[in-house]
Amino acid sequence: MITKKKKFIISGPCSAETEIQLIETAKELAAIGKIDALRAGIWKPRTKPGMFEGVGTIGLSWLLEAKKITGLPTVVEVATAKHVEEAIKFNVDILWLGARTTVNPFSVQEIANALKGIQIPVFVKNPINADIELWSGAIQRIQQAGIEQVGMIHRGFSTYGNTEYRNAPMWHLPIEMKRRFPNLMLLCDPSHICGNRKSIQSVAQKSIDLDFDGLMIESHIDPDYAWSDANQQITPTTLRRLLDDLIWRNEITDKEEFLNALNGLREQINQIDDELMTLLSHRMKIADKIGAYKKANNITILQTIRWNEIYQKAHDKKDLLNLSEEFLIKYLDAVHLESINHQNNIMNNGDKIN
Ligand code: PEP
Ligand code: MN
Repeated sequence: MITKKKKFIISGPCSAETEIQLIETAKELAAIGKIDALRAGIWKPRTKPGMFEGVGTIGLSWLLEAKKITGLPTVVEVATAKHVEEAIKFNVDILWLGARTTVNPFSVQEIANALKGIQIPVFVKNPINADIELWSGAIQRIQQAGIEQVGMIHRGFSTYGNTEYRNAPMWHLPIEMKRRFPNLMLLCDPSHICGNRKSIQSVAQKSIDLDFDGLMIESHIDPDYAWSDANQQITPTTLRRLLDDLIWRNEITDKEEFLNALNGLREQINQIDDELMTLLSHRMKIADKIGAYKKANNITILQTIRWNEIYQKAHDKKDLLNLSEEFLIKYLDAVHLESINHQNNIMNNGDKIN
């Protein structure tokens, strides 16, 4: 069911609240004609006590009813062995591990053990912190339980303080996961990344442009009055518009003209990358000489004034080079650190400075 099929769309409310809310939402979603599965949170992991923690098992019977009426397969978050058992009892079609579960290997293993001997597709959301090993480890635990259809959901990462996003996307992490697990389906959950309604469309589009296989988006018939995540849920009508406006792109094509042009440009880039690396190697040889010179004269490796000059250079050149200041600083920082390591090597035959 969740083999790498493009445009796999999961939607439904953050939480199942009442039978009517769930079934009405499901009917409107089914009418869109582009939804592959219906989600609903039954047990909600809330950050603070006293918040709505889900309706529990009764919600599974509403979900089963919604499936009967709409034909939509159902998707539920599980966080314990008991949740797995209940979900299976109520014929849930797909399970997912939430961000607060993926973060805990004990919980993931408990779920993996409960899944032994069962075949059901399982999605693993990224952990709340930006730890790619935890995410990979959780996937491996589920795979080792014998689950054949495992997928990944990118829902962003917690950061401190107020930022543009509720959970920072840090796109390089799901991109790395795609590299590590090329055969697993990767969905984006723009609802939990954004935490608001206005940027869901652009985050969803961005994920599609990065060759994600689909989306999980929260929807509710009356989002303003949702019992959880009210700010980020959208109506099925808004979702329909969002899906209509999405532009799906192909990762590959066999159009010869395009492929020739692309290969030509990539060849140029490869050439430039080789030249850049050769230049960096020259640059480090000069750093080695500086290191030897500083050693002979008993001068420190790091000189703050020099470092400030580098920052200033990034600021002054960014417009001329049409490169962002952020990139230039990252680049200069990395080059500078490598240079310090080279000098340290010369001075102390030394350990790396990290
Ligand atoms: C959810 O999907 O409602 C949810 C709790 O998500 P996450 O685990 O990404 O916070
Ligand atoms: Mn939610």
